[in-house]
Amino acid sequence: MTDLHPRLRFAPSPTGYFHVGGARTALYNWLYARAQGGSLLLRIDDTDEARNRPEWTDGIIEALSWLEIDFDEGPVFQSQRRERYDLCAQELVEAGRAYYCQCTREEIDQRVKERNGPPGYDGFCRELGLSQGAGRALRFKVDREEVTTVSDLVRGEVRFENSSIEDFVLVKGNGAPLYVLANFVDDVDFHITHVVRAEEHLPTTPKAVMLYLARGEQVPVFAHLPVLVNESRLKLSKRRDRVAVEDFRDQGFLPEAMCNYLALLGWSPGGNREFFTRLEMLESFSFDRVGHSPAFFDVVKMTHFNKHYISVMDPARFVERAIRVLEGTTWWEPTEENVRTLGAIAPLVQERISLMAEVVEMTEFLFRAPSLETLSAQPLTAQDRTSVEMTLGLLSDVEPWEPLEIENKLRELAAERETSLRKLQAPIRIALTGRRIGPPLFESIALLGKEETRARLLAVLDQPIPEG
Ligand code: GLU
Repeated sequence: MTDLHPRLRFAPSPTGYFHVGGARTALYNWLYARAQGGSLLLRIDDTDEARNRPEWTDGIIEALSWLEIDFDEGPVFQSQRRERYDLCAQELVEAGRAYYCQCTREEIDQRVKERNGPPGYDGFCRELGLSQGAGRALRFKVDREEVTTVSDLVRGEVRFENSSIEDFVLVKGNGAPLYVLANFVDDVDFHITHVVRAEEHLPTTPKAVMLYLARGEQVPVFAHLPVLVNESRLKLSKRRDRVAVEDFRDQGFLPEAMCNYLALLGWSPGGNREFFTRLEMLESFSFDRVGHSPAFFDVVKMTHFNKHYISVMDPARFVERAIRVLEGTTWWEPTEENVRTLGAIAPLVQERISLMAEVVEMTEFLFRAPSLETLSAQPLTAQDRTSVEMTLGLLSDVEPWEPLEIENKLRELAAERETSLRKLQAPIRIALTGRRIGPPLFESIALLGKEETRARLLAVLDQPIPEG
């Protein structure tokens, strides 16, 4: 379905870190709005005073901008629109579509028990004509004989028997409007044509549709996106799973990798292809190819995507981003020389890491020697010491000081010691970098320079020999 100017909104509730499920919903809204030449509003659903915090809102807004999901309007805050909800509630009462109810939860449950019937509210106060008052909730009069149909771009026409829907609450006894009312009012006021959101909202959708019909408003088109699950096929949860976009960002996921991966959680563009630029996604995105079945949010797979995106990044951009990561350490200093050294090792790091945060462990040795603690935690065996000593001896002959020359000398030494080059490299790497893995050793040695390499090998030989 193509609309001339669809209007969409993304409406997160600021109750915690920004969930990857929210990011996927935001992205699908964005893709559809941009692909159709429509517009996108950011609305903050912050009516739940007990659970909302302004810093969560800031975090969501920052994370969206980091993901390069931009909006044409907003943010609009539901907490600032209370008057609109109160007015709509009033008008529904005046039109005879809603009524005040003073039943307590206990009374409702008691009557359910007595009549031995289905759970839910029995319409006790429907005809009492109660006025507004403390403790009185406002309920919508559901036409129990009817069937409500929701048109959903993912699920087609979904039918709900109204007989299974109780007279639902619009405004709580304390006067607070419920989500179903607030969302309806906002979606109407902002002329929203397409409501794209998580599947968990599908059960409340017939209630929203009833409100549209009761008020004679044009019902929007819905698209309910499949639920995201973990490897045990359980719905992703903040408590159990890693879901915060902010955490992934801080670990060094790239926004383009995350967006590409998240786009494929529910949407299958066809074929085996997995990597899509934003523009390519825009060109091929459609709700026809969004499925209903739960989508597995697989951090391992997302990490592969990230590795790919890091490896194809423009090298200058990689260095820029690597510098941003190093700025988070205590030891990085952006001197010209350091930037040059980083630039020299960057291509070797770029093709090896999966997360930008790994830049720190891959390059630290170039900017500071391993600490004594690090070295003494990985003591050399007697054999390793001999390897280090012999390496030290032959390095003075390396000329020119270049990776290939260094490699040749070490190869000769390995042959002489009847060991493999790999085995010979291990203690030297520890001595020079304090780590077992890192960028290729010969390039690393070349970049460290002859003096520094000698100094570090000597320092390691100064370490006390472990007993036993
Ligand atoms: N605020 C709701 C949420 O964060 C979304 C409501 C909607 O999109 O209609 O789940």
